[in-house]
Amino acid sequence: LPNLLLMRDRAGQAMGQVGSGGCVMAVMLLDLDHFKAINDSLGQAGGDELLRQIGHALSTGVTSAETVSRRGGDEFVVLFPSADATLLPQMAQRVLVALADPFAVNGREAVVSASVGVAVYPSDGADFDTLLSHAEVAMYQAKESGRRCIRFFTDDMNQGARGRMDLLSDLSRAVSRGELRLHLQPVVNLASSVVVGAEALVRWERPGVGLVPPGEFIALAESSGLIMGIGQWVLNEACQHLARWRSMGLGHLHLAVNVSAMQFRQGQLEQQVSDALERSGCDPSRLELELTESVLMVRPDEVMAVIRRLKQRGVQLSIDDFGTGYSSLAYLRRLAVDKLKIDQSFVRDLTIDPDGAAIVRAVIQMARSLGLKTVGEGVETQVNRRALQVLGCDLGQGYFFGRPIGVADFEQAALRSSAVAALPPSGLGAGGRLGLRG
Ligand code: C2E
Ligand code: MG
Ligand code: MG
Repeated sequence: LPNLLLMRDRAGQAMGQVGSGGCVMAVMLLDLDHFKAINDSLGQAGGDELLRQIGHALSTGVTSAETVSRRGGDEFVVLFPSADATLLPQMAQRVLVALADPFAVNGREAVVSASVGVAVYPSDGADFDTLLSHAEVAMYQAKESGRRCIRFFTDDMNQGARGRMDLLSDLSRAVSRGELRLHLQPVVNLASSVVVGAEALVRWERPGVGLVPPGEFIALAESSGLIMGIGQWVLNEACQHLARWRSMGLGHLHLAVNVSAMQFRQGQLEQQVSDALERSGCDPSRLELELTESVLMVRPDEVMAVIRRLKQRGVQLSIDDFGTGYSSLAYLRRLAVDKLKIDQSFVRDLTIDPDGAAIVRAVIQMARSLGLKTVGEGVETQVNRRALQVLGCDLGQGYFFGRPIGVADFEQAALRSSAVAALPPSGLGAGGRLGLRG
């Protein structure tokens, strides 16, 4: 295939000619879907052979005026030097059709598809390199839309992509630059209002932006793999706090850390937890890992083996946002989790909707018969708190008891709470808030 240098040259010539009579020049970037998996299954030589065949199929699918080039890896570029703008979708489709039939490699059939991004001269860029990078932005959009499709570059795509790129490059430095913060949200005993522990919730102090909540960066951290470093940082911090609390008279508190499914998938969670425990010397039974039901959706046997080994070390386990995923009750029993955290949405509906109350009641009863503790999440009012307590829920967490706050503030509040708990019963009063509301 002609190389990109030649294509850039041809593009330069074409740019001098188009622009009249509704004609445009188009750069189309094609990235094969899941090529890594195909390559792995065919072996290196088989993968090379498949790429050769794809290159051949693409060049027979275009006219002699059009150029196909390989950009490297599993990416191909097609240059349409002069096209009727209204016909571009069909032209792009025509190229994809060239890949529709299965390829035969070493007597095996390989089915491929591609995600395609298209950028057009003059509207999307004034030179070949800009057009190619815009075609790439559009191609990523095609991947995000479920692959096997064509996307044309648009300006707001560029804005969005630029924003995401900036976010990603800033985030990749957040750990080493010390920009992450842990906020702690108290978990209280519903009957006595005494603080029994906290959940660690990460925030990112992004320079020039301010405190970014996890909802705005955890998903990106997961899809980019950055969650590994962030997760390790959170575990280390949490264990260090636990170790310190022991010497401050707060050794009874537990600290819960959220764990992403991705941390399991990379098989590193066990090592990360071990490292954090060893480095801090904290009591493993004070550390709690919060898993979501989705963790169990992929390779459950492997995940369960990891969880069993962590449990043997004494680490506690809870299921977060319980009721929102697809829980298998069989797994729940085999996993031997310690706690179920009932999702905020059920707690919120508790006093409004009789069905909501029925669900919460059933979850609490099931948990009890399995010997698990329950935590109601998102408790915002005294009414919610009372309703949970009446249904037999053990613990509560939510703005009613306290918002997530800095570590030092949390420690002060927890010390106050344990002082109150030490008073004789008459001294307990009816207080539920512990002055924790921030
Ligand atoms: P989550 O684990 O379910 O955490 C509870 C979320 O609910 C927190 O939001 C908390 O601030 C919020 N919340 C607590 N009480 C109330 C209430 O009474 N009312 C309302 N409306 N909201 C309440 P946050 O801190 O924004 O965290 C969102 C999610 O981000 C967490 O949901 C968790 O899934 C994820 N996350 C946070 N920190 C980490 C982390 O270190 N690692 C990972 N993998 N995920 C994290
Ligand atoms: Mg959580
Ligand atoms: Mg939750």
